[in-house]
Amino acid sequence: MKSYVIHGPRDLRIDEKEEHSLAEDEVRLGLAYGGICGSDMHYYQDGKVGHSIVKDPMVLGHELTAVVLEVGQSVNGVSVGDRVVINPSLPCGKCAMCRQGEENVCFNMKYLGSAAKRPHTQGAFDERPVVKDHQCVVLPANADLKLAALAEPYAIALHAANLGDVAGKRVLVTGAGTIGTLAAVAALEQGASEVHVSDIHQAALERVRKLADVRTLDARDVEERVVSGELAFFDVVLEASGAPQAFNTALKVLIPKGRLIQVGFLAPAELDMNSILTKELIIRGAYRFLNEFEKAVESVLAKPALVDAVSATYEFGVTDEAFEASLNKQQHLKVMIHHEAYGA
Ligand SMILES: [Zn+2]
Ligand SMILES: [Zn+2]
Repeated sequence: MKSYVIHGPRDLRIDEKEEHSLAEDEVRLGLAYGGICGSDMHYYQDGKVGHSIVKDPMVLGHELTAVVLEVGQSVNGVSVGDRVVINPSLPCGKCAMCRQGEENVCFNMKYLGSAAKRPHTQGAFDERPVVKDHQCVVLPANADLKLAALAEPYAIALHAANLGDVAGKRVLVTGAGTIGTLAAVAALEQGASEVHVSDIHQAALERVRKLADVRTLDARDVEERVVSGELAFFDVVLEASGAPQAFNTALKVLIPKGRLIQVGFLAPAELDMNSILTKELIIRGAYRFLNEFEKAVESVLAKPALVDAVSATYEFGVTDEAFEASLNKQQHLKVMIHHEAYGA
């Protein structure tokens, strides 16, 4: 079968991969939709994301919906023909973090399509990916598989909103990419009293206004407008842009004792550390998600209009064109790969 394999920066190939017979707890899928994630884009563009460097060829992809083609002997709860969305997270279940119920920071985490460890954990942009049965969340028979493929980024957004404890709070989301947009939606869903979204691209702000009931701000003057008193300070910032300027802006526009949740990978930079001290800010990372995945599936299925977050789909087998499109943040929000055979 064919797979999307990253070999190095801008060296993405469709390689032929051998298929093996299933272990008793495995499920063979036909890929319907695969969302290109920020991490996939970084692997494509730079051959790395954060500290994770592609050292051996690796199949990309971890945001997917699929149709079940075959199940292993001991699989129950998942049947041939089911439409499923995949939880890409495989914590070890044994380490100190897992034993405390903090599986998202498992010391031995395997996450589909991640070069964090060696051997890398292969991703799922295969024509027929194989996963463990417990990674499958069965969808209603009439579920929109394109919409449901937003569940993984939505789970990340929801985790950030949960750590931000946003209910009743004035929230600023910095960055109107996929995670920022979904974080704004999740913050509203979790009861934030007001959600503002900032970005430097007007097109991105227009897009987020269509998808969520938010106010939008030009990232370049939000600090000035808050410091001058024109806008009130924010209780919570969900930083989803990964831009150090946005992080520093967040420190300036947060109310004392406010909360900054960092949800995008941040480029190394000089940060305004003294604001953290003098305002007693709470700074916290939000990494992947904890037990929010099934709730995220429910949430996206309940919001059919969110499917407009998918700005383009490319047929399985298209490589550079699809990935270059995903890198064009002005034009695109979420770009997906679609396999005709299974994604009808
Ligand atoms: Zn993702
Ligand atoms: Zn663990």
